[in-house]
Amino acid sequence: MSEAETNNATPEDAQNEYIEDGKNKLIVKCKFCGSKILEKKTATYILQEKELPLMQQDVNRKEGEIQKEMVKEYFHVENMYMFENIGFTHQVDSYKYLTCADCDAGPVGYFEIDSKQSYVALSRVVQC
Ligand SMILES: [Zn+2]
Repeated sequence: MSEAETNNATPEDAQNEYIEDGKNKLIVKCKFCGSKILEKKTATYILQEKELPLMQQDVNRKEGEIQKEMVKEYFHVENMYMFENIGFTHQVDSYKYLTCADCDAGPVGYFEIDSKQSYVALSRVVQC
């Protein structure tokens, strides 16, 4: 067998309009107020399945219920000092959620307290 391996792509190889060399190609901003969250090429694109609370909870939800959705695409930020602007919620289990520092929209991702790693959901921000 001398067949060359042709399909060994990893998430780091992902190339699309938002990703270059596995990093965010564009500036990451808040969807609502345009506040700058990340400078270009400061975060690594990863695929992982992680539930986040919805940004807008249904007013008719059951009392105490937190509505969540599965999010699969994230930018991994290894050092929280890479953020241009970011806010944190109070601790929930072993996480804090990330919010816009200017308008409090969120969660736009989560911060893992033990590992001090941050993950920004692509679907919760704009890039330009
Ligand atoms: Zn904002």
